[in-house]
Amino acid sequence: MKKLFNKFKSDFRGLFPTILFCLKISFKSSKKYFLISNFISLVSIFVPFLNIYLFSRLIQALSTAFLNVNNGNGNSMEELNSFLMLVLFLFGVSLLSKVLDNVQQYVNGMHREVMQNYSNVVIMEKCAGLDVAFFDSSTFYNEMGDATRNSIYIVNTSFSIIDLIRSLIQLLVALVYLSSFNLLLALLLAVSVIPHLIYQKKQLFALYNIQRDNMELSRRIAYTSNVAQSRQYINEVKLYNLFPFIFEKYSRLWNNLFRKKQKASFKYTGLLVITSILPGIVNSVIIYNLGAGVFRGGYTVGDFSYYNGVAEKVMASMFSFIYAYGQISDNKNRIQNFVKFLDWRNQMKYEGTVLPDPARFVLEFRNVSFRYDEALPFVLKNVSFVIESPDKTALVGVNGSGKSTVIKLLLRFYDPTEGIILLNGIDIRDYVIEDYRKLFSTMFQDYSKYAYTVAESVVLSDYELQGDGVWIASALERSGAAGFVSKFKCGVNTHLTRQFDKEGVELSGGEWQKMALARTFFHEPEMFILDEPSASLDAESEDELFRKFEELYADKGAILVSHRLSNITAVNKILVLDNGELVESGTHRELVRKNGKYAHLFNLQAEKYEVRA
Ligand code: ADP
Repeated sequence: MKKLFNKFKSDFRGLFPTILFCLKISFKSSKKYFLISNFISLVSIFVPFLNIYLFSRLIQALSTAFLNVNNGNGNSMEELNSFLMLVLFLFGVSLLSKVLDNVQQYVNGMHREVMQNYSNVVIMEKCAGLDVAFFDSSTFYNEMGDATRNSIYIVNTSFSIIDLIRSLIQLLVALVYLSSFNLLLALLLAVSVIPHLIYQKKQLFALYNIQRDNMELSRRIAYTSNVAQSRQYINEVKLYNLFPFIFEKYSRLWNNLFRKKQKASFKYTGLLVITSILPGIVNSVIIYNLGAGVFRGGYTVGDFSYYNGVAEKVMASMFSFIYAYGQISDNKNRIQNFVKFLDWRNQMKYEGTVLPDPARFVLEFRNVSFRYDEALPFVLKNVSFVIESPDKTALVGVNGSGKSTVIKLLLRFYDPTEGIILLNGIDIRDYVIEDYRKLFSTMFQDYSKYAYTVAESVVLSDYELQGDGVWIASALERSGAAGFVSKFKCGVNTHLTRQFDKEGVELSGGEWQKMALARTFFHEPEMFILDEPSASLDAESEDELFRKFEELYADKGAILVSHRLSNITAVNKILVLDNGELVESGTHRELVRKNGKYAHLFNLQAEKYEVRA
C-alpha cells in the first residue's frame, strides 16, 4: 500500500506543471477552438445522466402500462401521451448529444492540427536560436528527436485533461446517485476498475521506457532505412548491391528493439486479462441486489433501469478518469522532455549592442585557443593574426589543421576557449550579432544544397533583395552559374533536384558549387570568405573564378581557403596553420624565400605539375 502511495506521489509530482503547460499551448495555439471545445465538454457532462433518467422513466411507464393491461384496467390516452413526451425528450437528448459530439470532433480535429503546428514551430524556433555547438552533440539530436516525436503528446494530453475533468465530475455525480441505492457497492464498483488501469499504465510506462532508453537504437534504425531510401546513397547502394547488407543490418536492429517491446508487453497481458474481470463481478452483485429489490417490491423496474444505468456510468467514468489520468501521467515524462528541450540554454551570449563601423574593417585574433568540447583536444593553439579589408588573405594548411575552425570562430558560431577576437579593436561579442555577421558572405566547405528554385537558392544570403531579378542574374553570372541556368526550361524558376518537382533538375558537383557561389555573391559584404570554393570545379572554371574574383572584388576583403596553392599566390597575406598553430605568415614571395612549411607544400604541388607537364 505504501509502495502504491509513493508511486502515486511520484506520479503526482510534476503533474500540475505538465497540465498547465499543455493548457497554455492549447490556449495559445487557438483561443477560439480552446473555448468552444471546453464549452461543449462542460455542456456534455450532464447529457448521459439526462439520458439515464429519461430512459428509466420510459421503462417504468412501459412496466406500468404492461401491468395495467394484465390487470384488465387498460391505459388512458393521457398515459400514452406522456409516454410519447418521454420518447420525444429522449430523442431531443440524443440529438443534442450527436450535435455536440460532431461539433466537438470537428473543433478538436482542427485544434489538433493547429496545436501540432504550433509545437513544431516552437521546436524550429528553438533550433534556429541555439548555438551551433549544440548541433555537434548527439545528445542534442536525441533530445531534439524526442521533443519532435513527443509534440503529438502535448496535443493528446490537452484533450486528456478535458476528459479528466469531465469524467471526474461525471464520476462524482454518478457516485452520489448510486450511493442512494448502496454506498458501499457504489464505492466498490468505482475501485474495482483501478487494478486493470494500473497494469495498463505499467505496460505503457514499460514501453515508453524502452523507447526512451533506446533512442540511439531507434535513430540507427531510421538511419539504416534512410540509406536504402535516399538519393544521397542510391548510387553506391546499386553499384555494390548493398540492399541485402542494409536489410540484414536493419532487421537485426529492428528485431533487437521489437523483442524488448514484446517482452515488456507480454509481461502484463495475463494480469490485464484477470483484472479486467473485477468490475464485471461487482456490477453483477449490484444487478442481483437491484433485481432482488424489485422481486421484494422495494424497487420498481424504472428504479432498476435507473440504478443500472448509473452503475454503468460509475464504471465508465471511473475508467475514463483513470485512463485520462494515466495518459497524462504517462505523457508527463514525454512532455517534460519537450519542456527540457525548450530549456536548453545557449552557452554563448548574444547581448552585444555595438554596430559595426562601415568605414573600417580590421579583424584581429589575439592569442586565440579553441576546442570544440572540454573533453576534446585544442584544435587552435594560441593563434594571433590580423586580417584587413580590402586585403585578400589566404588560410593554408593540410586537412585538419584548423582553417575551417578559424572561419567558424570569426563568424561567431563559437566563442574562443581562450583569447579574444576583435573587430576594429572591439571584442566581436560586443557587436549586435546579426549586424556583425552581415559583414561577411561565406561559402562554406560543406555548403548547403537547397531543394528550392534557382532564384530562391541564390537569394537566401540576403533575402530582403529577393525581388531583385537583375541582381539574381548578376550573381549567377559572377559565379559562373548563368551558363547552365540559361539552358533550364524555367530559367531561375527551375526547381533544383527532383525531390518535389518532376520537372526539377539534378546538378553536378561543380554546378552545385557554382550555385553556392552565386548565393555568396548575391550578398554584398565587407569581407568574403571562400572555403575551398573550387573543390568541385574543373580547372577552367577554377581559373576563371579566381581571376574574376580579383577583378570584381578589388575593393572587398576576402579570406580564401584553397587546396590549390597556385590560386592564392597573389594575395596580400598568407597564414599557414599546422596542427592548430599559426606557423608562418607573409606574402607568397616571403614564404617561398623562407623555405618553411608553406614552401614545402607549394613545391610539392609544383613538382606534381612539372611531372605531369
Ligand atoms: P581544416 O579546415 O583545416 O581541414 P578543421 O578546422 O575543419 O580543419 O578541423 C580542425 C580539427 O577540428 C580537426 O581535427 C577536426 O576533426 C576537428 N573538428 C572540426 N569540427 C569539429 C566539430 N564540430 N567537433 C569536434 N571536432 C571538430
